[in-house]
Amino acid sequence: MTDQHIPTPDSPCADTASAGAPFDQLPLAPAVLANLRQLGYLNMTPIQAASLPIALAGHDLIAQAKTGSGKTAAFGLTLLTNLNVRFFGVQALVMCPTRELADQVAQELRRLARSVENIKILTLVGGSTMRPQMASLEHGAHIVVGTPGRIMDHLQRGSLNLDGLNTLVLDEADRMLDMGFYDDIAFIARQCPAQRQTLLFSATYPEGIGELSRRFMRQPQEVKLLERHENDKIRQRFYEVSKEERLQAVALLLNHYRPVSTLAFCNTRQQCRDLLQVLRDQGFHALALHGELEQRERDQVLVQFANRSCSVLVATDVAARGLDIAQLEAVINVDVTPDPEVYIHRIGRTGRADQDGWALSLASANQMRRVANIVQELGSEPEWHPLSELQAASDEPLVPPMATLQILGGRKEKIRPGDVLGALTSGAGFTSAQIGKITVTDMSTYVAVEQGIAHEAQRRLATGKLKGKTIKVRIMDVSGDSPPRETAPASSRRKH
Ligand code: ADP
Ligand code: MG
Repeated sequence: MTDQHIPTPDSPCADTASAGAPFDQLPLAPAVLANLRQLGYLNMTPIQAASLPIALAGHDLIAQAKTGSGKTAAFGLTLLTNLNVRFFGVQALVMCPTRELADQVAQELRRLARSVENIKILTLVGGSTMRPQMASLEHGAHIVVGTPGRIMDHLQRGSLNLDGLNTLVLDEADRMLDMGFYDDIAFIARQCPAQRQTLLFSATYPEGIGELSRRFMRQPQEVKLLERHENDKIRQRFYEVSKEERLQAVALLLNHYRPVSTLAFCNTRQQCRDLLQVLRDQGFHALALHGELEQRERDQVLVQFANRSCSVLVATDVAARGLDIAQLEAVINVDVTPDPEVYIHRIGRTGRADQDGWALSLASANQMRRVANIVQELGSEPEWHPLSELQAASDEPLVPPMATLQILGGRKEKIRPGDVLGALTSGAGFTSAQIGKITVTDMSTYVAVEQGIAHEAQRRLATGKLKGKTIKVRIMDVSGDSPPRETAPASSRRKH
């Protein structure tokens, strides 16, 4: 597998040619370079080569790359470069989602900083008592690595002062958002000097990242490493269809392969609308993502798809930009795209991590030229299958495993994921295994629950209390039986 560095559409990025280049072409102190050689770090990894020139030049940065790609050194070398050891104050703060990750990062930073004498790196994580941490802080630390909750505790008690900070790092930002740390991160970022460099690292790019960057970063540059796909993980199949068969063929594919989550790419918005209609008429739980949606509607669509309460998301390439879903069993190319790079980008959304994924493409006879271009780019032969071999694998309709409950009330009401989980488990007697992702936005909270308990969970929440108040809860519908439009109050997420 090789990594491909691709520029995001709206931001400049570093030179691909520097991947694998030696560290000594970077403006790093000689002692730091000597230490890297001792560590056996001779050449930069692709994410380091893409991000270090930007970060060392002082820019804010959003870097996206998979686990194990060397992200720690990418921000570690930057914060060391920004550091003045003679000043005994916290100059860099690294936020990590868990205590284990914070420990790992601190360890790697210590290795990278071996050449810098008298440097103090402190971890602040939950699970250990506050007192010793406070004592260590009193002695002065240059770099703090910790989890958002504990860092916030110290800030609120006044034991951590960030007035001298110059570098703020959000590591594994997607996981921190998943864990409901948005508010803590926001609180911490507000305690940092406005004049600072902010670096954000993430393996995926969920919507919340955009919100963080809009609020807390200054003209961040983005680098992204798209994995060239391991062919054995993404199984690609092509089906020849006539114009008339095309949309119906999508339903055949869904019934045959029965993926839990499918992203279906259309070339036009009209095709999105038509396909959504065809799928809903047949009872599929499908939603569409297109440019006409308001931000709030878009958020709701993405929440439902990401938490597995919508089987199919129908989208154009433009609408799906920046969308990153961890678990995606299938990508369907409803139409062949004329651009092979777009094809590679589309199918790269499936087959992530340890899972296999299907990339299924529908091509009409007049699109064979496009298929040939794709095949040339991929360097492998396409696997053609006849539509006639598609058999419904079950008589049961394809139903998503989860359903989404929308609670009217969110951050503004100080609702946290833990409150909702508590209300459903200790309050209503469900097990936490029956509860999926909980997403809190300014005005609404979305909670995924197993399909089979949706009505009961809705009833219990609506008759119980959350934060001492009765709440309005509804089940969000994706089957098409009722109008897809939402009736929640307009969001005010942008007004900060
Ligand atoms: P990530 O944060 O992207 O998951 P890490 O920063 O934890 O990745 O790095 C993964 C491993 O690669 C670590 O063991 C680290 O020591 C090693 N590593 C990082 N950069 C280099 C390099 N340029 N050359 C050799 N090994 C490296
Ligand atoms: Mg890491």
